[in-house]
Amino acid sequence: MASRPRGWPTAENFDLVTAEVPAPADGQVLVRNTLMSVDPYMRGRMNDVESYVAPFQVGAPLEGGAVGEVVESRSPDLSPGDLVLHGSGWREYAVLDAGHAVRVDPAVAPASAYLGILGMTGLTAYAGLVAVAALQPGDVVFVSGAAGAVGSAAGQFARLLGAGRVVGSAGSAAKVAHVTGELGFDAAFDYHDGPVAEQLRAAAPDGIDVYFDNVGGDHLEAAVGQLRVHGRAALCGAISAYNETSAPPGPRNLARMIGWRLTLRGFLVRDHADLRPEFVSRVGGWLRDGSLVYRETFVDGLAQAPDAFLGVLRGDNLGKMLVRLP
Ligand code: NDP
Repeated sequence: MASRPRGWPTAENFDLVTAEVPAPADGQVLVRNTLMSVDPYMRGRMNDVESYVAPFQVGAPLEGGAVGEVVESRSPDLSPGDLVLHGSGWREYAVLDAGHAVRVDPAVAPASAYLGILGMTGLTAYAGLVAVAALQPGDVVFVSGAAGAVGSAAGQFARLLGAGRVVGSAGSAAKVAHVTGELGFDAAFDYHDGPVAEQLRAAAPDGIDVYFDNVGGDHLEAAVGQLRVHGRAALCGAISAYNETSAPPGPRNLARMIGWRLTLRGFLVRDHADLRPEFVSRVGGWLRDGSLVYRETFVDGLAQAPDAFLGVLRGDNLGKMLVRLP
């Protein structure tokens, strides 16, 4: 990271630097990264503010989820040729403690799935619905960011877990068609086409029981206005505000929480690791029997990583945005 952005990041906030790769020490491995994830939360880490995760440092590499091949090992636990998932992305080669790498099996699922549907992304969607929003069969569910990585998983999980009706919002007509077509949502709308509250009311005229929030802002206010008695919202992200330079106004209708006895609950996926076995078994089954689909958008080369990251914030992606490294 060359400098901290104010508002939208630009290419000038990033530097591509060539550096000597250190030799791995005892207990470490050298990994050649083949795929890396670019995620909306990384925008928050570019700010120097107190948060749930430490800020990136100016002049130091960014980091994030990556998959790569072990090329040298000084650990008995990993061997050259092993494919591993780890947190030292945004670089072509990484030296890391073997204990910070998890071996993944490309025979079970493509390497990219471990960064997406079977990884942090999928678990976020699953935990948000099951543990945070306490999804019940028959619930009417609204998912924002429905064509993105987490949202496309959340909407399909809701359907597969017995939701009565699943409604999504996304940022283009093509995304809306994908959400109601391939992903099987019952209804969807483009949030650019009119006020979210009006469009949500038209798509779920009898109200919603669960809101999976990836967006915040007017989406959250619209959902609060449409939640039925004892409705629940899982607050996963607020991407509409990530590049704002001043705090956005909160939902103006929060008092509705009282009369309608609503629950709005924020969560972090890292607190839900206990769900992983159940998640892998269920989601693995849905992938095998073809009832769950996932899309990926690939960008090639480390030099393109900043643009891929900006692309996620702009909405260039369908499903999970990933950078392929040569
Ligand atoms: P996505 O794949 O959903 O990509 C982000 C999407 O956000 C874009 O594709 C874009 O789609 C949409 N978007 C951008 N700006 C706006 C806006 N102003 N209003 C509405 N939509 C917008 O990313 P992820 O699936 O990785 O992440 C989704 C959300 O989940 C993020 O908020 C992220 O921070 C959060 N998250 C939270 C975690 C947790 O532990 N709580 C863990 C992982 C992710 P479009 O074209 O539809 O606008």
